[in-house]
Amino acid sequence: MTVRLRFLGGVGVIGSTKILLEQDGWRVLLDLGNDIPSSADLLRYPALPRPARGIADRLRLGVAPRIDHLYRVDALEGTDVAGGADGHTVVFLSHAHIDHVGLAGWVDPAVPVYAAAGTVRVLGALEEAGTGLEGGRQAIRPLEDGETVHVGPFDVTCLAVDHDVPGAAGFLVTTADGTLAYTGDLRFHGRHPELSEAFTERVRGVRVLVTEGTMLAASFGAPFLSEADVDAALGAALDATPGLVVVSLYPRNTERAAALLRIADAAGRRVIWPVAMGRFLRAYGLEGVLTWEEGPGLEAIRANPARFVVQLGVDEIPRLLDLPLGPGALFVHSNGEPLGPFDPNWALLADWLAFLGLPMRVIGSAGHATPHDLERLVRLAAPRVVVPVHTNEPYRLAPPPGTARVLAERGREYALDHIDA
Ligand SMILES: [Zn+2]
Ligand SMILES: [Zn+2]
Repeated sequence: MTVRLRFLGGVGVIGSTKILLEQDGWRVLLDLGNDIPSSADLLRYPALPRPARGIADRLRLGVAPRIDHLYRVDALEGTDVAGGADGHTVVFLSHAHIDHVGLAGWVDPAVPVYAAAGTVRVLGALEEAGTGLEGGRQAIRPLEDGETVHVGPFDVTCLAVDHDVPGAAGFLVTTADGTLAYTGDLRFHGRHPELSEAFTERVRGVRVLVTEGTMLAASFGAPFLSEADVDAALGAALDATPGLVVVSLYPRNTERAAALLRIADAAGRRVIWPVAMGRFLRAYGLEGVLTWEEGPGLEAIRANPARFVVQLGVDEIPRLLDLPLGPGALFVHSNGEPLGPFDPNWALLADWLAFLGLPMRVIGSAGHATPHDLERLVRLAAPRVVVPVHTNEPYRLAPPPGTARVLAERGREYALDHIDA
């Protein structure tokens, strides 16, 4: 029987790619995350999913994929989706961002879940910090770069890529009807471009390349900084600011967090983290992480604001009222939460900064490939078919001669060997 393929997420939107391959009752699911939050979500603060009903509530609202024999039976009460394992389904997670792993805590424990070892490490540290997967701990099996898992007629190979979280990977799926490569989220301007270059090399000549296309959108017109540029700009900002620096970076970018600790140290400043973030970073293995729990405390910061950097917790914005934010203080947005103007909490932060008179500088680097790098990836990989996903403007990917481009429809069933028919 032919290999069938469905895109159950990441179609026409940034985030949450989900790709289901099926043949002879065997199924491979690539990624299982939540949609990126938007101001149109029915499940937005304070109407959040109920703790034990997270998957059932999302299925009722149509914001989780309806896949039988994937989720735990006890989590599906009130839905018509069948729970429990069928022994023929395996899940692969590309990296530890919510839009790729957010629903994995609801997977039945008898369904194998795999991810690169680096992703297992990040998820383990989050679990240890009390901020693990919704739905509960999941025993995720670690994969080495290049390791292959056999799933019935499918061979799935884990291929490391560079992204703004450690342990990111794409997958190469080999089938009787040809090969499919999936990038996960990747970039070529980060700290490990060689990983994404090696991915490009290893997927050369695949039948179908499913690539993320986040930065294709016209709205991402801003100039790109490399992570090295970010380090330099952060250092300059810490040196030039006479007062307190408040920063928002995304802690799962542990390499940026480690860099901030080094840069702050060189600038004679100490970094104070929100408690849960600090627990995660320590569990991940970073040293010298201080939180509000162990001090130095407000008095020390007020006495000498130029000796500190405070990381913002988006759930504790009123803490800003305690801080010495007079003239000379600075807020640095460095890809942390709220993530950007598309995030429902961005306007809230802007209101607070306006009230406090706290100027904002943006010093960040995208976790996603530039449009130029995406076109180069497709040209070098030279697939028969390219499918841009994880973007709201997939039409902006121009395929090279010899490659057909398919703009996938959500939920539609494609035959792998006729996807461009
Ligand atoms: Zn993503
Ligand atoms: Zn990501």
